[in-house]
Amino acid sequence: LRGVVALDGPSGTGKSTVSRRLASALGATYLDTGAMYRAVTLAVLRAGVDPADEAEVARVAREAQLTMGTDPEAPAVFLDGEDVGREIRGPEVTGAVSAVSAVAAVREQLVAQQRQLIEQALLSPGGMVVEGRDIGTVVVPDAGLKVYLTASAHARAQRRTRQDIAEGRAGDLDRTHADVQRRDALDSSRPVAPLRKAADAVELDTTELDVAQVLERLHELVDD
Ligand code: C5P
Repeated sequence: LRGVVALDGPSGTGKSTVSRRLASALGATYLDTGAMYRAVTLAVLRAGVDPADEAEVARVAREAQLTMGTDPEAPAVFLDGEDVGREIRGPEVTGAVSAVSAVAAVREQLVAQQRQLIEQALLSPGGMVVEGRDIGTVVVPDAGLKVYLTASAHARAQRRTRQDIAEGRAGDLDRTHADVQRRDALDSSRPVAPLRKAADAVELDTTELDVAQVLERLHELVDD
C-alpha cells in the first residue's frame, strides 16, 4: 500500500515521537496501535478481569468501544466515549498490556479495526504513519515503506524514564529497564504476531541518534 509508512520496534526506540513528527511533516494522519492495546487493557483492569483469563479478556475487548483520533498533533484514544490518553500510560496498564495483547481474539479484533482506520485514512491525500509491533508483518504487509527501529536496552530504558518524568509520572530507571526487558521478551515470544522485523523492513538503530537524526533518515527513506 503506497501511502502507508509502517514503523515497528520494541518500546523506547523513540517510535512514537518520530512517528508523530514524520506524519506532521508529511501532512499524513497517524495511528498509534499500541494505544489501542493499552485501552483494551484498561477496560480489562476496570472490569476486574484477570489479564491471564483469555476468554474474559476477549469478551471485554468485544464490548469495549474504541475510538481513535488520528491527528498527529493531537492523537487521541477514547474508551466508551471517555478520553483515556493519560490513564493508558500508567504503570498498571503498562504492566498488563503484554498479556492482553497476546490474546489471539484481541489481536484479530484490533487488527480489523486498524485496517478499517487505515483504509479510511487513505481516502484522503497525505497517507498515514502507523506505529506498532506487527504493522509491517501483519497489519499492512504491503506498506509502501517499512521501518524497524531498534536501540540498546539501556538507551530505551533511559528514554522511557525521561518521557515518564516529562509527562509527570514517577521516573525510575532500574524499574523501567526491567519493564522494557520483560515486555520485549513477552512481545517477542508470544505465539500470535510476535514482535519481529519484517523481512523487507529497513532496520534503523537509534541508540546513537537523536530525534532530528532519526527523522532525517526517515525522510530520506520516504523520498527514495
Ligand atoms: O507501543 P506501546 O509501548 O504503547 O505498546 C504497548 C504494548 O502493546 C506492547 O508492549 C505490546 O504488548 C502491545 N502492542 C502489540 N501490537 C502492536 C502495538 C502494541 O502487541 N501493534
